[in-house]
Amino acid sequence: MIKQAPDQYQEIRDAVRALCAQFPDEYHRQIDHERAYPEAFVDALTQAGWLAALIPAEYGGSGLGLAEASVIMEEINRSGGNSGACHGQMYNMGTLLRHGSQAQKELYLPKIASGEWRLQSMGVTEPTTGTDTTKIKTTAVKKGDRYVINGQKVWISRVQHSEWMILLARTTPLAEVSKKSEGMSIFMVDLREAEKSGMVVRPIQNMVNHETNELFFDNLEIPAENLIGQEGQGFKYILDGLNAERTLIAAECIGDGYWFLDRVTKYVSERVVFGRPIGQNQGVQFPIADAYIEVEAANLMRYKACELFDANQPCGAQANMAKYLAAKASWEAANACIQFHGGFGFAHEYDVERKFRETRLYQVAPISTNLIYSYVAEHLLGLPRSF
Ligand SMILES: Cc1cc2nc3c(=O)[nH]c(=O)nc-3n(C[C@H](O)[C@H](O)[C@H](O)COP(=O)(O)OP(=O)(O)OC[C@H]3O[C@@H](n4cnc5c(N)ncnc54)[C@H](O)[C@@H]3O)c2cc1C
Repeated sequence: MIKQAPDQYQEIRDAVRALCAQFPDEYHRQIDHERAYPEAFVDALTQAGWLAALIPAEYGGSGLGLAEASVIMEEINRSGGNSGACHGQMYNMGTLLRHGSQAQKELYLPKIASGEWRLQSMGVTEPTTGTDTTKIKTTAVKKGDRYVINGQKVWISRVQHSEWMILLARTTPLAEVSKKSEGMSIFMVDLREAEKSGMVVRPIQNMVNHETNELFFDNLEIPAENLIGQEGQGFKYILDGLNAERTLIAAECIGDGYWFLDRVTKYVSERVVFGRPIGQNQGVQFPIADAYIEVEAANLMRYKACELFDANQPCGAQANMAKYLAAKASWEAANACIQFHGGFGFAHEYDVERKFRETRLYQVAPISTNLIYSYVAEHLLGLPRSF
């Protein structure tokens, strides 16, 4: 491992590292090869309480801050694992915590904290509207004590490994609202019940071993009490959760970045070509040094976002910029790592190509780099809104 001075989170780091060490490269490689879900790994993280880090102690979690939670995600990725399999369990519940009724919090949060219920899915993206979320076509129409859902979602993660999903749907037609961000609502959907009547799940195979699905809703009925917060305010509630999500994913990218740097520095120190370690060549050293600088810089912005979030201060700018910097830095580290492994970078047994695929996702999801540029241009630079 590249040398780093201990920080104030060292105890958490050591404990997460010790757990992750029980799941070596071979485990993650095999899971990737089988396109399987890392059940044992996620169970171990759940049993140890790490995924309940952000749930307040009164609901059975450990009530830690975003900084500590981000260190947990970072260490999972640095160990060679992929937090993408379970990060939803850590942050999706934030919507319930902030906007759910007292009864909803008491019902769901303790079971999410214990892992009995997994709330790992969030259904927002739709095939025909993409990033333009306010145009979503999935509707929820109130009929008595039920809402009836019709429409379609795409790319929805971990449906097979969640009991519950948070679903965004239109409750008032776009033409009838004064602001396009109004008239959408969020609901808790019991996934196993939904599959019995009105929801069809079609898995999408993709480049990474990340469980994603198309969902089709045909008159799916859910109890009206599953509405979270006020009807029509769902888009705002989803946005509220994005800062935590972006900052945690930034930390995952930072974990990936250090993983690539650990691997590549070791490899180039040992691999001898032309009678000397390849790492003695400046042409090899410089891209690695460049990636290291970028990862370190992203790390600073991650902690800035955490500091503001944990102090209940606005942190949209820092969360977006941390996600941007970290996703870019991990991708540069990935490129240096695969390049200087030469042909061996393509061999499954070195794990570089797997992590290379995994970290690439974060340029696109959960928000694309271009949309972060748009956010910065509009909200920080005062330029006209472009869409
Ligand atoms: C593995 C995986 C897991 C996912 N999990 C979930 C999930 O659990 N729940 C969920 O709701 N969604 C999920 N998604 C969806 C993900 O959030 C979207 O793919 C992402 O937000 C981009 O939307 P899109 O694919 O529709 O791209 P589009 O909106 O079609 O955009 C395509 C590209 O065009 C560019 N672009 C679009 N609009 C603009 C603009 N105005 N200005 C400049 N450039 C622009 C961007 O570069 C963007 O990457 C997942 C996706 C993947 C791949």
